[in-house]
Amino acid sequence: MSETAALAELAKRRGFFFASNGAYGGTAGFYTYGPEGAALKRNIEDAWRDLFVRKLGNVELEAPTVMPEAVFEASGHLDGFDDMIVECAECGATHRADHLVEDAVPDIEDAEALGTDRVGELIAEHDVVCPSCEAELADAPVDEFNLMFGTNIGPGSASPGYLRPETAQGIFVEFPRLKEYARNQLPFGVAQIGRAYRNEISPRRALVRVREFTQAELEHFIDPERDEPPIDRVADVELPLYPATAQHADDGEPEPHTVREALDDGIVGSEWVAYYLGRAMEFYERIGIDMDRFRYRQHLSGERAHYAADCWDAETELGGNWIEVTGFAYRSDYDLSKHGEYAEESFTIFRQYEEPRTVERAAVDPDMSYLGPEFGGEAAAIAEALEALAARDRSAFDGDEVGVNIDGETYTIPVKKTGFAVEEQTEAGEHITPHVVEPSFGVDRLVYSVLIHGLEADTVDGEERSFLELSPTMAPTTVAVFPLMTKDGLDDRARSIADRLRVEGFEVSYDDTGNIGRRYRRQDEVGTPYCVTVDYETKEDDTVTVRERDSTEQTRVQIEDLPDAIGRLVAGETLSEL
Ligand code: AMP
Repeated sequence: MSETAALAELAKRRGFFFASNGAYGGTAGFYTYGPEGAALKRNIEDAWRDLFVRKLGNVELEAPTVMPEAVFEASGHLDGFDDMIVECAECGATHRADHLVEDAVPDIEDAEALGTDRVGELIAEHDVVCPSCEAELADAPVDEFNLMFGTNIGPGSASPGYLRPETAQGIFVEFPRLKEYARNQLPFGVAQIGRAYRNEISPRRALVRVREFTQAELEHFIDPERDEPPIDRVADVELPLYPATAQHADDGEPEPHTVREALDDGIVGSEWVAYYLGRAMEFYERIGIDMDRFRYRQHLSGERAHYAADCWDAETELGGNWIEVTGFAYRSDYDLSKHGEYAEESFTIFRQYEEPRTVERAAVDPDMSYLGPEFGGEAAAIAEALEALAARDRSAFDGDEVGVNIDGETYTIPVKKTGFAVEEQTEAGEHITPHVVEPSFGVDRLVYSVLIHGLEADTVDGEERSFLELSPTMAPTTVAVFPLMTKDGLDDRARSIADRLRVEGFEVSYDDTGNIGRRYRRQDEVGTPYCVTVDYETKEDDTVTVRERDSTEQTRVQIEDLPDAIGRLVAGETLSEL
């Protein structure tokens, strides 16, 4: 069985995740996390919060998942958030046209960059067939399909809305308030963990491509001219980089470079992106990604999202495929400029000069008692045009007359009637549109990667065992407590130990069903790192057995020392050190 199939089986049986609405035939692209999966996901989110919100001094908000159409008109999603779709004329199934081409033509890794026409030609040239019914797709048109789920806000259809396709927009649209919260000082970072929705054409690979998923996004607002990341903090961190050049080369492989080297050699263009690539390494290691199955891949030029100026993906290897788990993008001023253009509020921030500056400003104060009678209904437009011209080209006012052009017609006005003057003004600063650096994490893909990378098998006492090598801080349960038998007071004792450990803050489960070997296997499969067993010796000397998941080694610990012992194990000590 492949590792992805083995995990799917275990995930369903043990309550990590399963396809939703099974009782109604299932709904493709939606997964429910069972109790174990929900707990693991929460732990991963908490680790993210710790590293990207708390440790970086950022803040977190929670925005609605439904947003009005105007937001997505401004953000570009209404026009540009499309995937290529091809519909089978025979069976009606729809497929990602670019993925079909990538599967059929080994040399093509990024068919989306080729455009719909070329992808249509390639489908015909390579006799691509419908994966559902095997009919030829050669004559089926390849179209763009917008991935947003639409809805109506309120009754009727007057206010169209969409389920957000990324959490980021919920942060961008609130920039006018967030900048005040940040006391108008750049840089500042605003994070959000929440649901995003994409009506994927072909949901696949379990949690990898779903229609509702969780993103953890950080939007770091910076002044592009003044703010620099604290690169020294990550300068020596080694990054497994797979730049575009290596992807184009026949034998190109990811290679380790420190953050400093990556910047000095120009491999990563943006200091801010390099900084976050460095910071994120600690996160991936902490949650239990196998770093031998991890790389940072640079986007090829045709692959970049509509907003991204420099982009790297973190990818994990799952069942032989490399999957994007995080996008690191330098979004420049794209988002805030767009919202500034479309919305009614200001998306700029006031940047104070170090010293106030005196500048010359050319302005006009047209004599309307002259313009009105002379130009009638055009007078106001002429006054406006004069003002724009003064700001643009003051030399136009050098002579006795000045000409302005309105809708192809030139109007000539005596300069003395324009009130033209150059004045000195003192300015304290200027309004700038901040740039945005964005690490965007797909939480579900991380959960899936941690599970696949953690899945192990070995032989214990001649019996095959599968277990999840989850880190003690990520595992849904930290310690499981068992009574050897449910008699002679052993179960009462075990229950009270479980309660005590809960009070101490550990995630504890209690299990007294089945034989002890089976109980160990059950915990091994959900990744519980430690099991505590209460047996007849406990009654004599107040000790219990502590068993470690990966080695299956055991040691006896005094009950009163148990919370401290578990705490030390979680912190990294081994059983023999207790
Ligand atoms: P993107 O905006 O496409 O760069 O997505 C940001 C992150 O969200 C990616 O790195 C993925 O981890 C995750 N993601 C995107 N689409 C999906 C999906 N359909 N299912 C699960 N995760 C997704």
